[in-house]
Amino acid sequence: MALRLYNTLTHRVEELAPLRPGEVRMYTCGPTVYHYAHIGNLRTFVFQDLLRRTLLYKGLRLTHVMNITDVEDKIIARAREEGVSIGEYTERFTRAFLEDLEALRIQRPEIMPRATEHIEEMLELIGRLKEQGHTYQQDGSTYFRIASFEDYGKLSRVDLSQADPHTAGEEDEYGKENPRDFALWKSRRPEEAYWESDFGEGRPGWHIECSAMSMKYLGESFDIHCGGVDLIFPHHENEIAQSEAATGKPFVKHWVHAAHLIVEGEKMSKSAGNFYTLRDLLDQGHSPVAVRYLLASVHYRRQLNFTMAGLEQAQAALQRVDDFLLRVREVPDGADDEQPLEDLVARARAGFEAGLEDDLNTSEALAALFTLIKEVYPDLEAGRVGSGGRDEVLRLFEDANRVFDTFRVEEQTLDDARIEVLIEEREEARRRRDFGRADGIRDELTARGILLEDTKEGTRWKKVN
Ligand code: AMP
Ligand code: ZN
Repeated sequence: MALRLYNTLTHRVEELAPLRPGEVRMYTCGPTVYHYAHIGNLRTFVFQDLLRRTLLYKGLRLTHVMNITDVEDKIIARAREEGVSIGEYTERFTRAFLEDLEALRIQRPEIMPRATEHIEEMLELIGRLKEQGHTYQQDGSTYFRIASFEDYGKLSRVDLSQADPHTAGEEDEYGKENPRDFALWKSRRPEEAYWESDFGEGRPGWHIECSAMSMKYLGESFDIHCGGVDLIFPHHENEIAQSEAATGKPFVKHWVHAAHLIVEGEKMSKSAGNFYTLRDLLDQGHSPVAVRYLLASVHYRRQLNFTMAGLEQAQAALQRVDDFLLRVREVPDGADDEQPLEDLVARARAGFEAGLEDDLNTSEALAALFTLIKEVYPDLEAGRVGSGGRDEVLRLFEDANRVFDTFRVEEQTLDDARIEVLIEEREEARRRRDFGRADGIRDELTARGILLEDTKEGTRWKKVN
């Protein structure tokens, strides 16, 4: 079955039919690197990773471009305040962003262009727009004239008769022909970084960067463009206007937007004290894979209400899967399949894939896996699962991991936290004088290369090979 995705442009769930059969070209708006990404941003980046991985899972070839916005008015202003170059200022946040991607197991897109390295391409595009009469100059800045592009508003269906709250009152935007006209090139401000150009000394507008870089790497028409819902207007609307006005071709076929994340029922903000970066959560002892799982487990078009309780539930759900997989791996080679699992696994696989194909419904896909776990456990505990069933279950979770990347399918040494929990459980068993259970835990740990040593101060452990 083909992948179906909601398209913001048509307001319908549509089958993804790549412009070039077998190959998908996708652009996802990347971070503005003037702060650490918050978990709302990361929700959108995890969603984009799930989409990316689902396309690969479906066997499509993929070119995925994600820009790094490393020039922008706030960046320029902050760099000046700190007396450093733009490059120095954005370097640490770019690095932090790449670390977040790694911690959350978000795959690197094929191409990650930086805005500051594509000023030429932006100027070239502005030049094309100028030649075709889509621009005008005002106070040293160059604007896009939206009245010159008939289709303006087709993505967001914005009501053009209403004033635009986004641009009202912006200091360097007085004197525009229409308040919704937007800057392609902004005139230089005193003491701030600028570039020389045919349009005067200045800095690029934000929207032009994504049009210039996406078309450079993906061509003038490509398949998918993503971002959070806040980007629909004006950012993506303006990208369409600039790109289609310049080329006369449809810019993007499929627009896909992720709903926002809120925290404990409220909009995230620094003043409300509910603003979290990934670092904040890791410092509190949460595991990055639990954060990934939580962000991945809610369908992308539903608002995600992030709570600490939810994060703990995510951790518990992962533990349930990992405990199950640990038990499955214990089935010895050559064990008889008293209860064949072929049909159950096939049904779970079909459910998993149907969930993903249904507009990337991740909660449906995960539910298929949890149903399988529930179905298999009794047979597993009764020793009726053989090595054939074992391998089928493991293969399913390996495949599921190609998209989710949250399950421990391979033989792994126990992580430190899990060891501590087992030691605690053993002590508890000894207090209850349940020596069978206590010895069982010791044996299980020994089998995994963890040696226990009981001392006066308590139990110590070490890893051996
Ligand atoms: P920025 O770094 O501000 O350009 O944002 C990076 C990405 O995060 C964009 O795709 C935004 O649409 C998205 N985003 C911003 N706030 C949220 C939020 N609260 N929840 C989900 N995504 C968000
Ligand atoms: Zn963008």
